[in-house]
Amino acid sequence: MTVVRAFDAAIMPRRCVFCGTVCEPNEAYCCCGCAAELPWVENRCTRCAGPLAPPVRDGVDCADCQQRPPPFVAAATPLRYTFPIDAAIKAMKFQRRLYYVQAFSPMLAQTMARLPQDIDALLPVPLHWRRHAIRGFNQAAELCKPLQKLTGLPILANVTRIRPTPYQSGLDADERRRNLCAAFAIQGSVIARHVLIVDDVITTGETCRQLASVVLAAGAEKVSVLAIARA
Ligand SMILES: [Zn+2]
Ligand SMILES: [Zn+2]
Repeated sequence: MTVVRAFDAAIMPRRCVFCGTVCEPNEAYCCCGCAAELPWVENRCTRCAGPLAPPVRDGVDCADCQQRPPPFVAAATPLRYTFPIDAAIKAMKFQRRLYYVQAFSPMLAQTMARLPQDIDALLPVPLHWRRHAIRGFNQAAELCKPLQKLTGLPILANVTRIRPTPYQSGLDADERRRNLCAAFAIQGSVIARHVLIVDDVITTGETCRQLASVVLAAGAEKVSVLAIARA
């Protein structure tokens, strides 16, 4: 097996997804040079992963969360949604560049380690079947696969998107809220106690709020959120 892998690596060396450099054995599809330049998150609200300015004490929610507490207990992303992460996520979703998943999954795993430790199920944000048919895959489900391998946690498959919500970009927060109203449905109940919602990007957090509410109503006790980037 090792021989096969060495042979594979020799004919198809792993390359950095951002710059194309051949990766060192300790680099997982993102070279050290690019990793040093990526827009890593700092000073974020641990409740919603939103930006904090000025930084508040650990364990204190941001002003948004205090005004309108989200239904989830924690949210985290390793990165901010700016260049080159925005371009990478768009390429992954709209041009089927699924090799980005290999670069993002170790980052997601590291960030997941900072979330509550009692998470017992993964839930990729579902796509409406029509969009799934057009795209051919659900990027959130692709991001869940390596996490499932790593953690052994089950992936919830009884949640569906019942309304083909139009694209959210270009809408303000109120419009997004209306746009997402009753967007998700669950067949049966959720047997997990602490569900981790996984998505590619958290934009305003409305999708996660809606999905978390549905999951809680179906029997889960807690929900947390993990994504690659926060706008
Ligand atoms: Zn690179
Ligand atoms: Zn917050």
